[in-house]
Formats: sequence, structure tokens, C-alpha cells
Amino acid sequence: MNDTTLRFLPGKNNAFTAKVEKISGQKLLACYQCGKCSAGCPMAAYMDILPNQIVRMAQLGMEKQLLASRSIWTCVSCLTCNSRCPKDIKIAEVIESLRETALRNGLRNDRLNIWEISPEVRADLPPIATISAMRKLTS
Ligand code: SF4
Ligand code: SF4
Repeated sequence: MNDTTLRFLPGKNNAFTAKVEKISGQKLLACYQCGKCSAGCPMAAYMDILPNQIVRMAQLGMEKQLLASRSIWTCVSCLTCNSRCPKDIKIAEVIESLRETALRNGLRNDRLNIWEISPEVRADLPPIATISAMRKLTS
């Protein structure tokens, strides 16, 4: 993201904020930007938007910027941020909801198509590997 300045936008996208809250099951406005999630994130150095900024931008309804960010695909779902948040916000679930929204919106089509794998190989693959590969690519 080029413009990392976060601004309060009078015409903010409340529908997007509500959607993220609904999918993730998290109360975004509980975040008071302490930064503990980002401080403990092992992938922070590779992110264009830090986890605490993701939460802030979700509060502000910044759909376009969030769904275009590299960070939502860089997150490895290690749950460190969840365990560090003093407000008990599950940031990993928030990020997962953004990945889901991007996929549902057709913004990425490079995920695994399970039907392109032969039935023999499919039978050998661990289900967790195929499901996670269908949901996101981490490279
Ligand atoms: S740790 Fe929790 S309260 Fe602190 S910035 Fe992250 S999401 Fe917000
Ligand atoms: S779950 Fe994702 S955002 Fe949270 S600490 Fe792990 S890599 Fe970072």
C-alpha cells in the first residue's frame, strides 16, 4: 500500500465493517491500537499493512485497500496475535474473514482447484493440506 496514512472518512464503508465483524465474529471497535498484535507477529516484517493497522482499517471500512493488501495472504494463522491481544480480539479470524471476502469477490483465482487433482492423488493428500490450499496461498 502506498498511502499508509489512516484517516477518518465521513463516508466510511460501515457495511464492510459490519460484514467483517459478522464473518469473523469479532468486535472491531474494541481495539484501542496498543500494537501488541503487530509486535508479536512473526510475519510482520513481510507485511505491507501490520495486524493492528488491519484492524484499524477494518474499523474504518477501508475495503479496497484491505482486500488488495499483501498482508492478508502473508499471515500464516499462527494465532500469536490472538493470544497477545488485551481486548481478546481474534485478529487471525479478522484476517481470515478478509481472505474469504477476497476469494468470494473473485479477486484471486490462483488458489488450488481440487478438481484438477487426480482422484488417486486426492485420496493420498491429507485433508487439512487440501482445504488450506484451497482457501489460501501463503507463498
Ligand atoms: S493487540 Fe488487540 S487491542 Fe492491541 S492493537 Fe492489536 S487488535 Fe488492537
Ligand atoms: S496469526 Fe497472522 S497476523 Fe497473527 S501473529 Fe500470526 S502471522 Fe501474524
